[in-house]
Amino acid sequence: MEAIRLRFPQGLFAALRQQLLADIERESFALLFGQLHRVGPHTLIKIVDVCHPSPEDYESRGLAHLHLRREYVYARLVEMQRRGDVDTLIDVHTHPFSARGAAFSVVDDRDEVLFHQWLNNTLDGVHYASIVLSRGDYSARLWEYEDGQPRALPARIHTQTVLERWPCLEDLDDGEAPVAALDPEQGFLARSTLALGLDVLRHIVRDQCVAVVGVGGLGSAIAENLVHSGFHHLHLIDHDRVETTNLNRIVGAYAVDAEQGRLKVDVVADHLRRINPRARIETHPWPIEDERLLPVLAASDWMLLSTDNHTSRYHTQTLALRFGVPLISAGSNISVDDGRITDMSGEVITARLGDGLCLNCLGRLAPTQIAAETVDGLDEVLERRGYVSGREVKEPAVKTLNALIAALAVEALINQYSGRPTVPILVYEGHAMPRLYPDAESVTRRRKSCFYCG
Ligand SMILES: [Zn+2]
Ligand SMILES: [Zn+2]
Repeated sequence: MEAIRLRFPQGLFAALRQQLLADIERESFALLFGQLHRVGPHTLIKIVDVCHPSPEDYESRGLAHLHLRREYVYARLVEMQRRGDVDTLIDVHTHPFSARGAAFSVVDDRDEVLFHQWLNNTLDGVHYASIVLSRGDYSARLWEYEDGQPRALPARIHTQTVLERWPCLEDLDDGEAPVAALDPEQGFLARSTLALGLDVLRHIVRDQCVAVVGVGGLGSAIAENLVHSGFHHLHLIDHDRVETTNLNRIVGAYAVDAEQGRLKVDVVADHLRRINPRARIETHPWPIEDERLLPVLAASDWMLLSTDNHTSRYHTQTLALRFGVPLISAGSNISVDDGRITDMSGEVITARLGDGLCLNCLGRLAPTQIAAETVDGLDEVLERRGYVSGREVKEPAVKTLNALIAALAVEALINQYSGRPTVPILVYEGHAMPRLYPDAESVTRRRKSCFYCG
């Protein structure tokens, strides 16, 4: 059975460890609030908030024991019920006496079974999970009832980036299986390894799963860059078919694909498998609203968003925020006025859970446009009034701009593994003097207290 995912916002797990393990003379404790989602075969808990008890909230604590005052725990439960956006309580405590091998003790087992039982009898629909930290690793579990008996299901902590990840006790003897692609002589990633280092490549190759939403001109180039960069597990999501007018930019598409009207996901997947036959490329020819995509997206480590309409961008981001999956959005635009290019630009936005920014508060999603794309008939009204450009308007698009933005998007993703700085918004402008710059102004001026990402 797959382990339950405990998904942390950016920076939170590292901060939690640091705070709790600052005192290695005594055990420390924190309570997390989370949202539990069951999506197909996956169970994930998105961590929403942390509560640190104050020194007075401890009844007693020592190197190998800890007791909290009951009032503290009750107060947190009341708080949780009141806020209504969380349904899971996760208790975290430390075993500062062990350097490695964080294992729940017999006392932990007993206390947690009793607490879980009490919680279950007192409140409806509240889930209970726990984490124990040693000074070098962790164990985690979710408590459930099966046939009236309490049962601990194994859980794993998923941070936004692998750089924040920490070893789990249960995974220690997992071993580092050699990966053919990384072989320094014969592996197809040998030269990438020389550039980025073996550690970075190992993460990328071994266990990362990326969903590419939209595999048109931009998304197909992104997918190709991902496979060339070593990503071995991709989900391609797009319900469109290849047309002749796409052939100027879809990577891997041939004239015959347009003649046969093949699905873009199939065409791009064929291309990627030719580059790396070992890569696991899964195709999903459905619109982003399709429920079958929920388990796919919930279990992805990253979403790369490259569709060209506001509704699908809005919808993808909603799912990214709901499941706590970090998102990189890529977009490009060409405007032509009177036969002259007035705008030829693109941008890449990196929005991880906890970064406090998203396409909404950055003003990147036009509500009018989304309404027009969603409500039947409204698009005609709005178009007549000049609020939005019509669906049937053929937007200009060229391969070179797409290739540039796709490369920037995948660079932004690789930075998440190599530790190079994250630029929230990177803009390329090519209509006048070409320039590439971080758009710090949009970040500063974004709508604060965002309903979506706040
Ligand atoms: Zn313990
Ligand atoms: Zn936001």
